[in-house]
Amino acid sequence: MLLTSLMLAAAAPAAAIPDRAAERALFEKVVEIPTVAGRTAEFRRLTTLLGAEFARAGMTSIVKDHDGTQTLIARWRSPRPSGKKPILLMAHMDVVEAKASDWKNPPFEFREAGGYYLGRGSADNKAALVGIVLALQGLKASGFEPSRDIVVLFTGDEETSGNGARRAANEWRSLIDADYALNGDAGGGSVYADGRPQDWSMQIAEKTYADFTFSAVNRGGHSSRPRPDNAIYALANALAALERHRFKPMINEAVRGEAEQVAAEDKGTFGELVSKWLKDPTDRETADLIEAMSPGGTRTRCVPTMLSGGHAPNALAQKAEATVNCRIFPGVSIKATTAELQQLAGEDVTVSLVPGSSTPATAPTAIRPDVLAAYQAAVRTRFPGVPVIPGQSAGATDGAFLRAAGIPVYGFGGLWGIVGQSGNAHGLDERVLVEGFHGQVPIWREMLKRVAG
Ligand SMILES: [Zn+2]
Repeated sequence: MLLTSLMLAAAAPAAAIPDRAAERALFEKVVEIPTVAGRTAEFRRLTTLLGAEFARAGMTSIVKDHDGTQTLIARWRSPRPSGKKPILLMAHMDVVEAKASDWKNPPFEFREAGGYYLGRGSADNKAALVGIVLALQGLKASGFEPSRDIVVLFTGDEETSGNGARRAANEWRSLIDADYALNGDAGGGSVYADGRPQDWSMQIAEKTYADFTFSAVNRGGHSSRPRPDNAIYALANALAALERHRFKPMINEAVRGEAEQVAAEDKGTFGELVSKWLKDPTDRETADLIEAMSPGGTRTRCVPTMLSGGHAPNALAQKAEATVNCRIFPGVSIKATTAELQQLAGEDVTVSLVPGSSTPATAPTAIRPDVLAAYQAAVRTRFPGVPVIPGQSAGATDGAFLRAAGIPVYGFGGLWGIVGQSGNAHGLDERVLVEGFHGQVPIWREMLKRVAG
């Protein structure tokens, strides 16, 4: 008997495919490590844990210490290389700070309630991060042998500086270089409450993030003797001009794909507007109406987010300043945006880019039919016939740094949420759907079998 069990053990795969309880247990551990910017020791705890998990999948990992955080790069070396460049899988380990007193329960205490897993970072981005680890462990346990290397990049500062992705794309390029990247921080699906799938998204583009300062300076003086030149009025007029301004409507492959889907699905007013706009994307009036209902898709958007000025109630202001946050349409340069803002602001206000605030300006990643087909096939193993739509994020991710360095990036996710129910990423009581969390794992496995099998 002893001999038999030894033989069985020898013949069995190195580790078992993680079951649902093991999936949940790993997720719980990861969510309960508060990897908030500045807490370097917590990043060490998480990279130590993840390094051990990757080792269970037969993978080696390297941890980079940098900028007060860490980045983890792991590699599954192909035992039968086909000569194809690696596939890169991306996610981020850091989470947004949580103000515990505003939460119903402690933000870093993992909980399950009402069909959701709760905790800071559960939706953004630890569900996908754990999904990637579990999929790789499952593939290894099932005896899968990739025909190309699979590389993993987990950054520790996506929510703040983006230094991990910036460095990975440049100084650590040889460690992460890939045919293309699948970014688990974008993509994923929407399913109706009755279980019917709505659609899945493949992020191929993102807007450029940039902060600008609008600054008016003045020689000041006694407030009993006002003059026409006045820093506060100059700034106020510049901001009023910004409020009235509409950037030129624009379209690209990503926005068109999403708009076509809306036009096909939405038979109401919004769908009609989108159909009309698709026929003439230069139609400003229609684009304005779309922006009013669903902001951010049709153009660059800029909005003041902070304001300061003056130094005494009885003195003319010597300085007035506003921070203006812009989300710039892909393909439009920061330089051109600065010039457009300066034009609006007038000569009494100086517009300048806040140094280090911007993500690189990137063009959309060209859709690769093989990647899109693999994504569709992987998702359809769970939701037959569901459409997978290429799209553009209004927000920014680590993907921009890789796109800027010439690595195609596809926002990919097996995770899904319920239409109309938010995961509240960055917000209070952040959560992720229990079924979506577990359901993503076989979708990731299926995707990797298709692109690296
Ligand atoms: Zn994120």
